[in-house]
Order: sequence, then structure tokens, then C-alpha cells
Amino acid sequence: MQKKFNFSAGPAVLPDDVLKQAAAAAVDFNGHGMSILEMSHRSAPIVNMVSETRQLVRHLLNVPDYYKILFLQGGASLQFSMIPMNILKDGETADYTDTGAWSAKAIRDARHFGNVQVVCSSKASVHNHIPKDFEQSPDQVYLHITTNNTIFGTQWQEFPDANGFLVGDMSSDIFSRPVDVSKFGIIYAGAQKNMGPAGVTMVIVRKDLIGRSERDLSTMLDFAVHADKDSMYNTPPIFAIFVVNRTLQWLKELGGVDAMHKQNKTKAKLLYEEIERNPLFKSPVAEKDRSLMNVPFVFAESGDEKHFLDYCADRGLVTLKGHRSVGGFRASIYNAMPMEGVESLVEAMQQYK
Ligand SMILES: *Cc1c(COP(=O)(O)O)cnc(C)c1O
Repeated sequence: MQKKFNFSAGPAVLPDDVLKQAAAAAVDFNGHGMSILEMSHRSAPIVNMVSETRQLVRHLLNVPDYYKILFLQGGASLQFSMIPMNILKDGETADYTDTGAWSAKAIRDARHFGNVQVVCSSKASVHNHIPKDFEQSPDQVYLHITTNNTIFGTQWQEFPDANGFLVGDMSSDIFSRPVDVSKFGIIYAGAQKNMGPAGVTMVIVRKDLIGRSERDLSTMLDFAVHADKDSMYNTPPIFAIFVVNRTLQWLKELGGVDAMHKQNKTKAKLLYEEIERNPLFKSPVAEKDRSLMNVPFVFAESGDEKHFLDYCADRGLVTLKGHRSVGGFRASIYNAMPMEGVESLVEAMQQYK
């Protein structure tokens, strides 16, 4: 197989070595004589693996012990309703920042469970920046932010101080940089951008917030149930959690989120500098808000986008088409995208005429 550099926004690139370990475990998990796909989630090796995954998360993000780490299903998208449902009492206020398509979906779902105030929006400028000056509601329970806007390529470089607590959708930049978890009441992320495959969603929630809404919730939608059962109330997506485990181990061996952040800055700098330098291309995003993870770019003048995409594909550089709402191109350069991938892309941009 000719290995390609996959610039997809998600599901996204995973480390080669992790894929090999996943393939091996699908046949025989750690010499147990069985595929991990066949093993009970109540068996000791699997319970230990899930517990080790939680510890890796706690270690890598420095998660204080007054937070629970949950592995759930339903994607980050289910958290758009599960969070307000578990947190907000009827009529209470939550502030939301509207910085892109995922924020908009979070806002739409939260409206079912409380008084949602959209305190800022970058919509009028096609979400090309992160709003800085906005007022929060005095009675706000929490302020929701999408820390990295996967589609538009903007990222909160500094987190705002919330009147209540912050809730962060970190689906596309979790583990890409150090984060002060204590600023957040809840952090959530679908795994398939920067920590594993689709099928598992991580939720880091402050223990005192569990059960806050006092709503009578369906069992599977209740944080308290999942927290109480260590994410084993029903059958969890064990294989997906295992791939997260191996990805986090890989990250730990590389030096953790600080080392990764440094690498991510180097990769992104190389690409943004080429976009600035190359007269063929430009970035649609305000310079100070540019994402280290998702890098959209467009032709400076109009051009044949398909031609450039085909040119890249011939060089093994794939999934570079921009999101349909933005057009142009988007290179997602998550943790697992090697430097050589970015270098090859930059070379293709330089040689393209
Ligand atoms: C991909 C993405 C989502 C949706 O994740 P699912 O796991 O598919 O529900 C939500 N928020 C952000 C920021 C994303 O990038």
C-alpha cells in the first residue's frame, strides 16, 4: 500500500504505530488468545485498559481529582443537548458564543433546556475571527465556547473568563496544547479528530456539577449514571477506547501536550508562511485567530480548485477540499500529521503553477 498523507478534518489521521497496534489487538489482545472485539467489557483486562485510558487523560491534561472522566457514545453532537439537560434548571441562563457551524448546533440544542443567550457572533464575517469584546449575562450558569472551529479554521488562543464556568467543545483541538482544566466545568470532545476513531466521546466534568439540573432524565442521558458506573453502565465502545488509549500512550512517549504543542506550532507556521508567501493562495482567517489544527486557504484570484486537488492527490496528498460552506482548501494538521506531510504539501504549493 502506498501510504497517503490524509488531511481530512475527521475522521482523521492516526499515528501509524497506533494503527498497527489496533490491527494486532483485533486479532489477539495482549496474548489473551482472543480479539479485543470479542472480549467482555467486564473482564479484568478490559476494565484495566479503560481505567488506564482515564489515567492517561488525567496525566496528559493534568485533570484535578474533582473531575470525572467519562467515555460516552452519541458523538460530540449528543453533548450539545446532554450538557444543558444535565446542568441547566428550567429558565436558567447559559451564554453561548457563535463562532461556527458546530457552535450553532450547540446553541440550537441547548434552547430546549434553558434560556440561551448568544453573547457574540462572527457569522456576519463568515466566522473568519474569534470575537473578543462581548458582555456576558450576569446570571449566567456557564459560557459555552468551541475552542477550535474545525470548519472555519479559527481557534480561541486565550479562553475568556466566564461569569459562571466555561464549557468547552474541544473536539478538534483536545490534546493539541496545554489547557487549564480548572477554568472549565465541562470539557467534551468526539474522539475522531485528535485522539482516536469515531464511536467514543470524552466528557470531563466537575463532580459537583453532576446532577445539577435535578431533572428526571432517561438513564442513558444522565451524567450521574455514567459517572457512577465508570462509563460501564451499558456496553462501551471498547475498541474505540483502546485506540484512544494507544494514541494517548504515543502522545505521552513524545513528551505530552507541551511537546506536541511545540510541534503543532512548527507545522502550522510552515504552512501559514507558505500561504502568505505564495501569490497563488491566501488565508481567509484573521491572523491572530488562526487555528493550529485546521488550515483553510483559497486561491488569491479565482482558479481551478479541482485541478489543484488532483495535482495534490497525484502526490499522495488527499482530502484537502475545503468544507462546502467555505470552499477552497483545508489542510487539517492534527497531532498525528507528521512534519513530512506538511512539508510535502508546502512543496506542492510551491511547485504548482
Ligand atoms: C466534528 C465536531 C463535532 C461533531 O462531532 P460528532 O462526534 O460527529 O458528533 C462537534 N464539534 C466540533 C468542534 C467538531 O469538530
